[in-house]
Amino acid sequence: MIITKQKPIDEILKYLEGVKNVFIAGCAQCATVCKTGGEDEVKKMEELLKGHGKNITAIEIWDPPCHLLEVRKRARDNKAALDKADVILSMSCGDGCFTIFHGTGKKVVPATDTLFLGEAERAGHFAEVCSLCGDCTLFMTGGYCPNTFCPKGLQNGPCGGVKDGKCEVSPDIDCGWLLIYNRLKELGELDKMKKIHPPKDHSKSIKPRKVVVDAVKKRT
Ligand code: SF4
Ligand code: SF4
Repeated sequence: MIITKQKPIDEILKYLEGVKNVFIAGCAQCATVCKTGGEDEVKKMEELLKGHGKNITAIEIWDPPCHLLEVRKRARDNKAALDKADVILSMSCGDGCFTIFHGTGKKVVPATDTLFLGEAERAGHFAEVCSLCGDCTLFMTGGYCPNTFCPKGLQNGPCGGVKDGKCEVSPDIDCGWLLIYNRLKELGELDKMKKIHPPKDHSKSIKPRKVVVDAVKKRT
């Protein structure tokens, strides 16, 4: 899930300076779970912006706004409200924000900051677990990602800075490599700690990346 947090309202208002007509687009998926772009948040934003003199041409929750075909369809369905709008306020992740611009051609203002790819541990609690490296080695590390759980992204740890099980970067963070060690021990796979992991192949994460799924391509 893509984890977002709403920008401070002053920042959003600054982006909307001189703008009168606003179309608000939320997200029925990740941003709904993060409470940054679901029905409640979109309605609250509508009231807030009206209180600051804005005219809201429509509010919509798109499912999801990061899907270009969905955005194009919703843009057709909402043509009149979009034509009236000076900007679309995107209450979704950066991916949604881009796709809304791409699919509508309209000027887009982000209402959120996009933080990371994370696990929803429970309501309102999200944890970063994967850094999208394109070269997954979790099999070797018991399921804990060294790029993410170790702030230095060490592929062979731990470093000399671990103290009382905590990372030297912050006493609030468990040492990722200690987590890996303990998990491998639990699995009876401590021999994996003795293996030297090669440096990360960063050529697999040169941005912007694109993927075409052959099986889908053949069907269409
Ligand atoms: S190694 Fe870590 S960053 Fe890379 S894909 Fe696996 S979980 Fe994600
Ligand atoms: S203390 Fe552990 S988590 Fe922190 S940088 Fe060193 S190996 Fe990584």
